[in-house]
Amino acid sequence: MKPKLATVVLGGCTGCHLALLDLHEKLVDLLGAVELVRSPLTDAEEIPECDVVLVEGAVGTALDEATVREARAKARTLVAMGACATLGGVGGLRNVVQTADVFAAAYGSGKPPLQADPEADPPIPALRPEVRPVSAVVDVDVEVPGCSPVPEMLLDALTAILEGREFEAPRRTLCTECSRRHETMLQHDSGFVSDAVYGVMELDSIDPERCLLEQGVICMGPVTREGCGARCPASNVPCRGCMGPSRKEFEQGAKMVDTLAAILPAGAIMFLDDLIGTGYRFGLPSSVLPSTVTKRGWSR
Ligand code: SF4
Ligand code: SF4
Ligand code: SF4
Repeated sequence: MKPKLATVVLGGCTGCHLALLDLHEKLVDLLGAVELVRSPLTDAEEIPECDVVLVEGAVGTALDEATVREARAKARTLVAMGACATLGGVGGLRNVVQTADVFAAAYGSGKPPLQADPEADPPIPALRPEVRPVSAVVDVDVEVPGCSPVPEMLLDALTAILEGREFEAPRRTLCTECSRRHETMLQHDSGFVSDAVYGVMELDSIDPERCLLEQGVICMGPVTREGCGARCPASNVPCRGCMGPSRKEFEQGAKMVDTLAAILPAGAIMFLDDLIGTGYRFGLPSSVLPSTVTKRGWSR
């Protein structure tokens, strides 16, 4: 009998499921090795008993929480798939604002919109005050990072589970697999002190082979987990940190501030428009920051 595989979506964009589709012909082999008992395409309400469940998305509503608890109860192995599930994801940036402000930004008022026909429409799930990663709600057996995850890494994780092996995502930093050239970064050299922080579009020219950080562009590579092949810097785009910190116990944003403090003139960091969104774009709910904020009663 083939192992039973189910997939569920919590607070996510379905991009992690698209990463599965990006396996192309390897997906055919995978689907030949398992029995797919539930996915967004099956439209099944309940999660059947299964061997493996892939969970996409963070826990941001009461419905998400009920769904992930059911997934945990029904699955032998639970896999958190992608940055939202493993770290809280981009949606977790709402953890430093009030829920009413989230509604105001989304709908122009402090409340969710009234449903046109409450009898006919499914109810809008109530937002929880904070977004949480899956591991903050239930036990997680395997985590596959990334926004979206690298399809081959997803396949490696699933193959390891089906073969009874352990899977662990790589733990070095992205800079170790980035092919961009360092000229001054690893030297005690005042030449590696940028006098400002730039967006790629603000530079008159950009050296396509030199480290972006050395050119004054914030690249999260030094504090981010490797494994994506440094696909953004390879495309002339700085890393935003979607694979999360190279080690889960590291504070990704604080480590980046530490890194920048070493290479930027004192005070330049304060001119970053969005320090939290830069350092914690994908992992604010997994950092110590929200609990610190809550303890201080600081809500914005
Ligand atoms: S990790 Fe990225 S691709 Fe996956 S659900 Fe979240 S936002 Fe979408
Ligand atoms: S900081 Fe960015 S561009 Fe520079 S080596 Fe690291 S990943 Fe590559
Ligand atoms: S380069 Fe950075 S942002 Fe881009 S996919 Fe890799 S980890 Fe994510």
